[in-house]
Amino acid sequence: MSRNTNEFCTTTLARVLELLAVPQMLCRRRSCRRMGRCRRYFPSNGEPCCMRNLNAEQRALVEAIHNKTSMIIYFGRAKTELYASEWSDMRDLEDAAVEVARCVCPDWSRKTFNAFLRARAKAPPPEFEGDMVVPPALLRPRP
Ligand SMILES: [Zn+2]
Repeated sequence: MSRNTNEFCTTTLARVLELLAVPQMLCRRRSCRRMGRCRRYFPSNGEPCCMRNLNAEQRALVEAIHNKTSMIIYFGRAKTELYASEWSDMRDLEDAAVEVARCVCPDWSRKTFNAFLRARAKAPPPEFEGDMVVPPALLRPRP
């Protein structure tokens, strides 16, 4: 991550890494493997130390979940977007981000976040397999 991260980003990234079991499965640091948590970060940019064990593809996945988590925390409150994609791959990513958001949601927005979770739970399961290639509206028969 080239930009400087704040404390919220450091915490969110650490929770994403833990969700993906990076401290246990990939990190070379013994304390990470034993505790299953990433507690150290680089003071220069706030990046959790476990991030250094990832290749470019793994790093992109972590950052995608992190970005989606931030969107859920900040925009999920409006309840205009449920982050429940019709595409199964995107839904998997959104489900992971919701689990991270559940851990990092600030107390002051817990009530609205819980309302978001209840609304999201009513969303239908993904309609399409895989990742979005063509917008779903174009696949539906037109009247
Ligand atoms: Zn580590």
